[in-house]
Amino acid sequence: MFNLKTLVRQNILALQPYSSARDEFKGNDGVFLDANENPFGTLNRYPNSDQKILKQKLADYKKLSSNNIFVGNGSDEIIDLIYRIFCNPNQDKALTFTPTFGMYQVAADINAIELITLPLNDKFQINTDALTPYFNDDNLKLIFICSPNNPTGNCFNASDIEFILKNFKGIVVIDEAYADFSDRESWSKSFESYPNLIVTQTFSKAWALAAARIGIAYASKEIVQLLNKVKMPYNISQLNEKAAIEALDNRSTFESNKRIILEEKAKLIQELKTLDIIKKIYPSDANFLLVEVDDANQLYQNLVEQKVITRNRNSLVKNSIRITVGKPEENQQLIKALKNS
Ligand SMILES: *Cc1c(COP(=O)(O)O)cnc(C)c1O
Repeated sequence: MFNLKTLVRQNILALQPYSSARDEFKGNDGVFLDANENPFGTLNRYPNSDQKILKQKLADYKKLSSNNIFVGNGSDEIIDLIYRIFCNPNQDKALTFTPTFGMYQVAADINAIELITLPLNDKFQINTDALTPYFNDDNLKLIFICSPNNPTGNCFNASDIEFILKNFKGIVVIDEAYADFSDRESWSKSFESYPNLIVTQTFSKAWALAAARIGIAYASKEIVQLLNKVKMPYNISQLNEKAAIEALDNRSTFESNKRIILEEKAKLIQELKTLDIIKKIYPSDANFLLVEVDDANQLYQNLVEQKVITRNRNSLVKNSIRITVGKPEENQQLIKALKNS
């Protein structure tokens, strides 16, 4: 039986979260003399600490309860909160599959947690045989699965993810930052079957709001309550919450931009295939392509000199470069620069 309480740090279970007078008084109209705010201006009041409207819009969109939704200052905040809730510094461990997103390591280092890294196989899939022995490690609290994976671009096999969800007794985090670009089914509702699951998504990619810093977690009501307890009271600014609400209200913009990006991605693949300089294009379920070239360091520099900035991933996947799909004219500039390299 899964028992969430046994996984949570003692100090977090015992924590009394910060409570403001505004949390206690729920009405909108009143004379507010409780928070030492300035009475003048338009951004003079503290924002809501519970992002009620945004969560309700997300709940309607996703067809689940807002009790299963947490909103963070980007997924980066959510990753950090998960470490802080479940991992005792200098004692507990987390695990992920590399190459993958760098924040799992950075957040582990900040929190003094050992992150075990298991290499993906030559198809960039999870090697479950190599993973299984770690299930017996009582200090292993978290497994981070990035699917679609950054920087490789592919989704992991659903059967492997399911195997982990069923057999690991700690928390499984599936980072779906790129799920909006993929045809694969999202895991965002699967906490109903797997109480140890947290799925993160973000407004930073397909929703075109990287500057607004809005990340989302989908999980059981109990895990969402823990995230709410530990977050800073005003982690989401009023301006950023409004931007996310407007994006959800303008779904046709989201859909049409996404369609353009996916069409551009298909075109880009066709054009890259014709270039000798590109040795391999890895399969992608995301809005970027990982490509193999002869000499990634040199090509990266050549492109920079032509004012086209890509991501050199040579240190993670030998001689690879990660290319984000841009606007049509930006992609043409990339192709031109590649031809010039
Ligand atoms: C871009 C990205 C994110 C987004 O992080 P935010 O903090 O929400 O901007 C999360 N995970 C992965 C794997 C990413 O590539």
